[in-house]
Amino acid sequence: MKLKLHWQIIIGMVLGLIFGIVAAYAGWGQFTTEWIAPIGIIFMNLLKVIAIPLVLGSLISGVASLSDLKKLSRIGGKTIAIYITTTAISVTIGLIAVNVLKPGNSVPVDMRTKLQSTYQKDVTQKETAAQAAKERGPLQPLVDMIPSNITSAAGSNSNMLQVVFFAIFIGIAVIQVPAKQAAPFLKFFNGLNDVVIRMVDNIMLLAPYGVFALLANTINLVAKDNMAQVGELLGALGFYCITVVMGLLVQMLIVYPALLTFFSPVRLTTFLKALGPAQLLAFSTSSSAATLPVTMERCEKNLGLSEEVSSFVLPLGATINMDGTALYQAVAAVFIAQTLGLQLGIGAQLTIIFTAVLASIGTAAVPGAGIIMLVIILEAISVPSAGIALILGVDRILDMCRTVTNVTGDATVATVVAATEGQLGEVHIDE
Ligand code: ASP
Repeated sequence: MKLKLHWQIIIGMVLGLIFGIVAAYAGWGQFTTEWIAPIGIIFMNLLKVIAIPLVLGSLISGVASLSDLKKLSRIGGKTIAIYITTTAISVTIGLIAVNVLKPGNSVPVDMRTKLQSTYQKDVTQKETAAQAAKERGPLQPLVDMIPSNITSAAGSNSNMLQVVFFAIFIGIAVIQVPAKQAAPFLKFFNGLNDVVIRMVDNIMLLAPYGVFALLANTINLVAKDNMAQVGELLGALGFYCITVVMGLLVQMLIVYPALLTFFSPVRLTTFLKALGPAQLLAFSTSSSAATLPVTMERCEKNLGLSEEVSSFVLPLGATINMDGTALYQAVAAVFIAQTLGLQLGIGAQLTIIFTAVLASIGTAAVPGAGIIMLVIILEAISVPSAGIALILGVDRILDMCRTVTNVTGDATVATVVAATEGQLGEVHIDE
């Protein structure tokens, strides 16, 4: 009997974890970098290379299949409103958790000094990146959304929002052209869509090996051939990590299930079974963009969402909806303030809610992007941004966790939008 995909992925992850730990103890860091890490990179690249054709193919045919523009703006408005609401709830959960548990009060002073000096070099890099993001004017995000050249927009996955915009723009024009004239154009994109979905299936055959390599290499990067250092880090920052993870779990086990229960007929177990492989992949790759092809496939094929809704809501979500990231940014900001002995009043906490919602929208769907935007939040509440040195050591681990929440949030909202639009078909759980 063939093992189901999610079991194959889980086995790959566990073996990767074990290999990573053994390698760190045995000092096989270089071997892992040279011989194991490339397999993970190949797998990630395969997923990333189909993201743009997938978004173009599915979004153009999805939008074009909407019979009128009113429907498009209704679905668009609803999607963005739910995205912002879930993100605001998520930040609030993070703030409550960090204010109640106060993880910053438990970091010993000598550890604080040690962390600050160890990660000082990395801080400067992140600060420069954040500065570049901050120097842009208030309307710059809007300007950034509109590509001036489609090939350069499609040239980098970090421009996904530009591709989403361009595809919607084409889709609208297709609706406006008489159906007979638009037919050959649409036929091509429908075909492209089917071919890309087939490619996702082929890439997923590699998933167990890919996640093995990704996890083994992550441990390698975090441990740097010194497993004792990981233990020390987790000792000092364990409570902070637990606070973030607890917040993420509340969002995933209470907020999303409540949304699904109230606004859709989909049962939580069905939802989790369908989405499982995408969540595991989000954990292994730390990238919502790399996971997008699989999220879309699982939502359409297994959860029964119409292509019209999934092709619009999910790519948009992967780029702008980051509930996990926003929650983590709120916890991290307050944690740093607590560790440095700074008091944050109610005004500062409200600023965190506002800036974390905006910062998470502006966070790219790639590994490690969340911590760059965190610098901007820290500056908004006058906490020294060098404080991120305190949390850099465990950031990759938390990145894996928050990306799972990001992807789950996108799929939840897509399911709710589909259900309320009467666009939910049959569920297929077996692979
Ligand atoms: N890695 C996250 C994602 O791709 C973004 C972040 O929080 O760093 O969703």
